[in-house]
Amino acid sequence: MFVFESIAQYHKELNNGSTTCLSVVEFYLQQIAQQKHLNAYIEVFAEEARTRAMQLDQQLQQAGTHTAPSGQALLPLFGVVIGIKDVLCYEGHTVSAASRMLQNFKAPYSATVVQRLLDAGAIIIGRLNCDEFAMGSSNENSAYGPTLNALDNNRVPGGSSGGSAVAVQAGLCMVSLGSDTGGSVRQPADFTGVIGLKPSYGRVSRYGLIAYASSFDQVGIFSRSLSDAALVLEIIAGMDNFDSTCSSLPVPAYYRELSTPLSETAAANSNTPATGSKNPEKQYYKFAYFKEAVEHPSLDPEIRTALLTKFKQLEIAGHTVTALEFPLLDYIVPTYYILTTAEASSNLSRFDGVRYGHRSALPVEDLADFYAHNRSEGFGKEVQRRILLGSFVLSAGYYDAYFTKAQQVRRRLFDQTQLIFKDFDAILAPTAPTPAFKFGEKTADPIAMYLGDIYTVFANLTGIPAIALPIFWHSNGMPFSLQVMTNRFEELSLLRVSASLV
Ligand code: GLN
Repeated sequence: MFVFESIAQYHKELNNGSTTCLSVVEFYLQQIAQQKHLNAYIEVFAEEARTRAMQLDQQLQQAGTHTAPSGQALLPLFGVVIGIKDVLCYEGHTVSAASRMLQNFKAPYSATVVQRLLDAGAIIIGRLNCDEFAMGSSNENSAYGPTLNALDNNRVPGGSSGGSAVAVQAGLCMVSLGSDTGGSVRQPADFTGVIGLKPSYGRVSRYGLIAYASSFDQVGIFSRSLSDAALVLEIIAGMDNFDSTCSSLPVPAYYRELSTPLSETAAANSNTPATGSKNPEKQYYKFAYFKEAVEHPSLDPEIRTALLTKFKQLEIAGHTVTALEFPLLDYIVPTYYILTTAEASSNLSRFDGVRYGHRSALPVEDLADFYAHNRSEGFGKEVQRRILLGSFVLSAGYYDAYFTKAQQVRRRLFDQTQLIFKDFDAILAPTAPTPAFKFGEKTADPIAMYLGDIYTVFANLTGIPAIALPIFWHSNGMPFSLQVMTNRFEELSLLRVSASLV
């Protein structure tokens, strides 16, 4: 039976002939069928995954006669089996944002990230369940029903990229892509015990990603190992002429740099940009954490203890760990929800049944009636709630009181963050206040659901990269993670610091 450890290990097996892309695709198709009850995939691209695997196997066989058996000539993601969240366009395939609104919508082109995965040799095996239009923290808002947490089927997988998390957790693909607007990669990674990486705003193109809140959205990666996350990031990151918010900063060789000792890289690339380290030679890091975050009353006491114990261990190992005052903590969830719903109300206006989306069969009196029917039938409750909230905070009488104020808070957060990274290498935090909760526990109370985003939205408000590292277990049997954040575009430093923490 195929056992997936890492992309590097899989490539070794392909090269020495102990496995083939086709047999691996068959293995995953079988796993997906066996674990169908988890509802991780909305659609599996079985036949085309098989066809592509056969083509790749043929390529390898032909190349094998010309290259050394070590076969370093393989494309970086050759034969790597990847699932994508149902908000990423893949040409000719349905993309629905887990919404009735887009039930039959076929993507006319591929998202840049999807195209780059394909160009690097990957096999896209299917599209993964999520909260409708990526709005939610539990995957309970999907028009296709919730995804189940594979470790405890009564518990949520987190959201909104719940399907992407569970697909990696349950071994239904090697790595997956999600999107993270306010934690949708890190929080489900935390709830399922896998790695979840959200790059800096602007590091990865969003061309072909269905927009939720454009000044926050970022494509992220779920994986079992840091090295796989580094490799996939290296492929998908970097300038894109189709997304003007995507940075033209060069993309470091994350994968190679991560596996090279710091002293060597410092000597070889003393002018490498954005390594993130204040001193590339040092082995010790300066960590900061927010006192208010760890002392927050909503934080599960076991998570608090695990974090404080970890901080002590880091100090004993020679790092410094400093508690910082962060009085703005209680403002960040309101700020996030004002700004994201405002942006969502604008982004989602295109789904009106004319330009895009569901068209109602009900008789209509006038245009307003027509839109109202299309949108009330097409959108679920949570999406409607957010469009209403967003329209409210943008309305003439309230714009300054809510939207402008929230923009000001965001600016202050950004400025404070820049000051922090003058003195520190990384910020450590919980990822979520509790481990995975039970289905239905928070559905009646949207505010309780929103407050669960307290630890993740900070990175999106400030645009910095963040990762959830699954290193803890709760006494209730569920995993939880340590969240690490570095300064903007310092993903390499984030990966390196992470390697020292797992
Ligand atoms: N839970 C957050 C929300 O509901 C985050 C969603 C996301 O990152 N897509 O908005």
